[in-house]
Amino acid sequence: MSSPEHNPASSIQRAAVLGAGTMGHGIAHVLSASGIETRLFDISEDAVETGRAKVAANLEKGVARGKVTEEERDAALAHLTGTSDMDAAIDGVDIVIEAVPERMDLKTQIFGALGSKLGSDVVLATNTSSLSIREIAEAAEASERVVGMHFFNPVHIMKLVEVVRTAHTSDAAAELALGLARRMGKDPIDVRDAPGFASSRLGIAIGMEAIRMVEEKVASAEDIDKAMTLGYGFPMGPLKLTDLVGLDVRLAIAEYLKVELGERFDPPQLLRDMVERGDLGKKSGQGFYSWEGDARG
Ligand code: NAD
Repeated sequence: MSSPEHNPASSIQRAAVLGAGTMGHGIAHVLSASGIETRLFDISEDAVETGRAKVAANLEKGVARGKVTEEERDAALAHLTGTSDMDAAIDGVDIVIEAVPERMDLKTQIFGALGSKLGSDVVLATNTSSLSIREIAEAAEASERVVGMHFFNPVHIMKLVEVVRTAHTSDAAAELALGLARRMGKDPIDVRDAPGFASSRLGIAIGMEAIRMVEEKVASAEDIDKAMTLGYGFPMGPLKLTDLVGLDVRLAIAEYLKVELGERFDPPQLLRDMVERGDLGKKSGQGFYSWEGDARG
């Protein structure tokens, strides 16, 4: 971890997070826990309230587990405010991190508005997991200050942040994002804007091949997963991970990568068939494993 005096992000005092859902509240959590005055914005007042309550609950769990002191919890909460007023949220901030739903039209609309409202020294980051950062950046004025900051769920626990730069991202913006990730206790990687960045591209490649191996009856799902957990030290096998993420979600990413990167990402027929019959993994109760009794909703 770089020392604070060498971290370009040590000067960041205020940040806005746009979207208070699964990712937004987690990003607001780690920002406020790093001593940054954080405004959590959402168009839905309920989402703002729920987001803040989730941050408080996760900090409380941290205290119960001895990972967070009561003082750290109180300081983090004191640094966090919620609002459904976008202008109030972005007033005087050093950086904005966007975490609204994964729709290009929504993101370009927001970056267009941010670009015209904020000085060109304010870094604009998007937490998109798959969309082109270049296309999002083109919607903003001064696209050199736009960068990807791809966090992982749950944000307050997962160490990885992919910092994604386009051909136009300035070194200063990328260094600020990398420094901010480190200031938040994360271990960032520096990635060029390319479909699937580094994480999804590799994760999907392994996941699709594992499904092809089930299709070809090379081994059972359990044994294919064991090959990776016991043989390669993966914390979880690719098929179990596919069940947790959702087969439909992984199919959509593979289809997108096939269009962008070619036939090697062509999703196996077995995956299409399973999605077609509603075997979506943990959320439906059945995937490569049976989750009966574990399924949500
Ligand atoms: P989510 O649906 O949980 O939350 C999105 C929030 O954005 C909602 O609260 C919604 O009310 C709000 N919103 C909608 N329109 C808005 C607007 N115009 N301005 C402000 N807020 C608005 O979604 P999520 O899972 O947190 O995903 C957010 C982004 O993060 C997406 O780009 C997604 O691809 C990316 N991402 C998700 C994950 C994940 O595991 N969920 C992981 C990495 C990245």
